[in-house]
Amino acid sequence: MRSGSNPLSSLFFPKTAYKSPSMALIVQKFGGTSVANIERIRNVAERVKREIAAGNQVVVVLSAMSGVTNQLVDYCGQVSPLLTPEALAEYDAVVSTGEQVTVGLLALVLQAQGVPARSWLGWQVPIRSDDTFSKARIDTIDAEALHKALKAGVLPVIPGFQGVTADGRITTLGRGGSDTSAVAIAAALKADRCDIYTDVDGVYTTDPRIVSKARKLNKVAYEEMLEMASLGAKVLQTRSVEMAMKHHVRVQVLSSFSFEPGTMLVEEEEVLERRLITGIAYSRGDARVTLREVPDSPGVAAKVFGPLAEQEINVDMIVQNVNADGKATDITFTVPRTELDRTTAAIKALNIGKFTTDANVAKISVIGVGMKTHSGIAQKMFQVLAEKNINILVISTSEIKISVLIDEAYTELAIRALHTAYGLDGE
Ligand code: ASP
Ligand code: MG
Repeated sequence: MRSGSNPLSSLFFPKTAYKSPSMALIVQKFGGTSVANIERIRNVAERVKREIAAGNQVVVVLSAMSGVTNQLVDYCGQVSPLLTPEALAEYDAVVSTGEQVTVGLLALVLQAQGVPARSWLGWQVPIRSDDTFSKARIDTIDAEALHKALKAGVLPVIPGFQGVTADGRITTLGRGGSDTSAVAIAAALKADRCDIYTDVDGVYTTDPRIVSKARKLNKVAYEEMLEMASLGAKVLQTRSVEMAMKHHVRVQVLSSFSFEPGTMLVEEEEVLERRLITGIAYSRGDARVTLREVPDSPGVAAKVFGPLAEQEINVDMIVQNVNADGKATDITFTVPRTELDRTTAAIKALNIGKFTTDANVAKISVIGVGMKTHSGIAQKMFQVLAEKNINILVISTSEIKISVLIDEAYTELAIRALHTAYGLDGE
């Protein structure tokens, strides 16, 4: 699923990293809603100054103003189908510009308030990436110029989302990529903390829009956050969590509109509460495919999933049944809903049996490192769903997660019932 990910395999760490022994170095990242207009950018400047007043060194990473990247993506789509690497390189040249505006503006606001600050673009740092335009991966970050600036008392303001290839072309890191930029910069600078300011005040036990009694978590293990992020809790880009876990970056998710402490991402051992379940995530982005009466013989699964793998269609849950007569079997699996048409075409071409598809499904997952040491958690999930008369279509599990696929219409009902059953409801 997350194969081939090797975030920041070879970060460049300068030998003479500068950091005053008494000060903490904090990377502050602000998302699109936090820099949505001039007033909010001034608010960001206040948060930055607070951190400085607390005696810390600060490096800022910014997103584009909310809505701006969408607008830029839309412009590109109007003039090109964006099918070739050359086209995607130009797409990156366009969509990376939203961040250029915000870093310049924040540096101006800070300067006007007497804080020496300057902006760097991704290529100026440089933040080197591969050349997978529109979803590039960071290879190395040269932290030397940033260390130099800090030493000279100048606050660096850096755009998220941007990278540069070995031959000098601008890249972007995929939507939501500025979280990953911030964590990568924190890792390269060996920062004490990476604070990700957003419009929610932390990570919740589940979506508070569905369960009003959802609670904010003080701490979440990296592993749990990884599951939650990839299962649809949109707080952080999944890749940023992978990177934080790999480089042991202390990440805090918090709101730029309040002064409440946020949620810390920590090592598993630091999740002290003896909780069984940490959170419940859901995703409405999947579709189910069921093949009926395919021959029950060696090689069938390879035949079905081979073409999907070749087309890089990400298959998630899979069940295959054993049939009584041993001649034919059913296989059910899920793919991203956006890939359903391509999947249907690929399966049709195989000509191996009847098949049905269903896009009105939801995946509900209960997540928690507590599962490693407690039993009966899956049973409870099945029991609760049974009591609500919710049919389970597919089940899959990992060491810290149980997912079920259900009819989309029961999403809210299932989440609320599970949240209560696992004792997650707050006041
Ligand atoms: N501005 C980019 C986006 O909207 C990157 C980010 O905000 O993380 O996807
Ligand atoms: Mg974001």
